[in-house]
Amino acid sequence: MLAEPGPACGRFAPSPTGPLHFGSLIAALGSFLEARAQHGQWRVRIEDVDVPRTAPGAADAILRTLESYGLLWDGDVWFQSQRTERYQAALEALSRAGRLYPCTCTRRELAGCQRGADGSPLYPGNCRAGPRQPGRPHAFRLQVGDACLTFQDAVQGERHQRLASAVGDFVLRRADGWFTYQLAVVVDDADQGVTEIIRGADLLDSTPRQLYLQRLLGLPTPRYGHLPIAVDARGDKLSKQTHAPPLDDQNPGPALWQALRFLGQCPPDDLLKAPPAEILDWALTHWRLNRVRAIVAHAAK
Ligand SMILES: [Zn+2]
Repeated sequence: MLAEPGPACGRFAPSPTGPLHFGSLIAALGSFLEARAQHGQWRVRIEDVDVPRTAPGAADAILRTLESYGLLWDGDVWFQSQRTERYQAALEALSRAGRLYPCTCTRRELAGCQRGADGSPLYPGNCRAGPRQPGRPHAFRLQVGDACLTFQDAVQGERHQRLASAVGDFVLRRADGWFTYQLAVVVDDADQGVTEIIRGADLLDSTPRQLYLQRLLGLPTPRYGHLPIAVDARGDKLSKQTHAPPLDDQNPGPALWQALRFLGQCPPDDLLKAPPAEILDWALTHWRLNRVRAIVAHAAK
């Protein structure tokens, strides 16, 4: 007998490196609507696993912005910085399975390497047979072998990635002791019961690594959909680095309305100045992920 599918659960997982901007609103809104339109839960997780990069006060500011935009989450907010025991347990499981090796290569030593899908060095395997510099602090890398991952993205369509040529053996714990995003996100999504991951297409290249980790750790694989990325007038992705202006907590209506337009939904003009709850009510009734898919398909032509 087939088990009943569990209730949908989506999530928004910002890094607390600065205030939310229009690009973050698109990911928050898309994940919120996709989960809530299925009467599912929507969770918020602060991805502060890279503690040295976090900005003081940014997490609080992010949560205040979500509240003022009417994007109210279920349950407690999770903080990755409080979950290192879970990441350590996953690391140990992979180590017992013989999938990890210590790597002593420094960033500088890898600077001349070919670049992978996400622009970081494609690891040439220097330490696969044993650390090059025993005694140095070491990272832990995951052997990817010849794994080729295929998945059906709910927005972007079918995607493939051969890990060895796209990203290489990747780091799960850095030499300074911090766990990496790829490991933390997989453990957290499973522990939070997340079934729907709707996020920006800048993470599309990370998804196969996450699928691979889920497979090795025996975790369920959620459904993925990667939304188009908002860019500025120069064509650069909106981000703190490109000085994207922060969202206005005092006047959320126009940005919410614009974010719906960006996602291919067609909010009526008279909603432009409506309170966020009214805009979200409309959006929940009319939300169609298909419309985002149509924009992506059109742009690819
Ligand atoms: Zn190495």
